[in-house]
Amino acid sequence: MPQAPTLIGKLAETVMGRRARVLGLDEPAPGFVEVDLRAEAPPGGWQPGHEIQVRATPTQGRRYTVRTVDAHDPEHVTVLATTQAGGPGTRWIRDLRAGAEFTVLTGRHRPPREHGTPRLYLGDGCTLGTIDAYAHTHAGTRDIVVIEVPSDALHLLPDRWPQHRFLPAGQAPGDALQSWLEHAAANGELAGVEGALLLGHAQSLQRQRRTLIDGGILPRRAITTKPYWATGKQGL
Ligand SMILES: Cc1cc2nc3c(=O)[nH]c(=O)nc-3n(C[C@H](O)[C@H](O)[C@H](O)COP(=O)(O)OP(=O)(O)OC[C@H]3O[C@@H](n4cnc5c(N)ncnc54)[C@H](O)[C@@H]3O)c2cc1C
Repeated sequence: MPQAPTLIGKLAETVMGRRARVLGLDEPAPGFVEVDLRAEAPPGGWQPGHEIQVRATPTQGRRYTVRTVDAHDPEHVTVLATTQAGGPGTRWIRDLRAGAEFTVLTGRHRPPREHGTPRLYLGDGCTLGTIDAYAHTHAGTRDIVVIEVPSDALHLLPDRWPQHRFLPAGQAPGDALQSWLEHAAANGELAGVEGALLLGHAQSLQRQRRTLIDGGILPRRAITTKPYWATGKQGL
């Protein structure tokens, strides 16, 4: 529901709304904002990867994802947002201040369909929070995570997330990931990967999925895609 009349937006808030309060804000790298929130839990409780929607304006909803849930305080969550888009969602994020209160729309958590282990996770900056919520990069299984980010964020993100690999974005969205993927497929770096979660720029996901299928790396059923934004489209 990226765009909806004010009345419908208000109705959705009444049915799915949870009160939230900003506890703090951080900028882990240029173009990235981490929002620390206390938010009433939906049915089933908050989970890392939980999708939320906010009303960026009375008629414009934008979607974001819970990155972390505090193990000792289940209503304390964080969301990691990027500010590249420059639309109403980005303006809403930029204008947030500690102490601000707003309504989050959400329901019970529905995790994406995922296959096998280890997995390949590909995305751009706006998917970092989601991928960080799902990937297992510490113990046992070692998923491969590759994230394309603006080059001015490249020197700071690896300090915070050393377990993930960051690539400087090229001329067009998805170009850097695509060239990494083609090399990795040719070099055998993806041998043993049993599933993939591809998130982010809609047109780039399609190219990545085709490369994985045509290269015989993974069958279509082992690849999950979820577009987060598309060239020329407002909200998804
Ligand atoms: C299920 C789901 C979960 C999401 N979770 C997160 C999250 O946790 N963190 C996060 O940062 N984003 C997340 N997103 C992406 C976010 O909702 C979009 O980037 C959103 O479009 C931004 O809204 P906006 O109003 O600023 O820009 P819009 O008005 O939607 O778009 C304005 C222009 O910017 C372009 N654009 C949109 N998004 C991007 C982008 N990310 N990078 C570059 N250009 C863009 C559009 O093509 C358009 O031309 C999620 C999206 C979905 C569908």
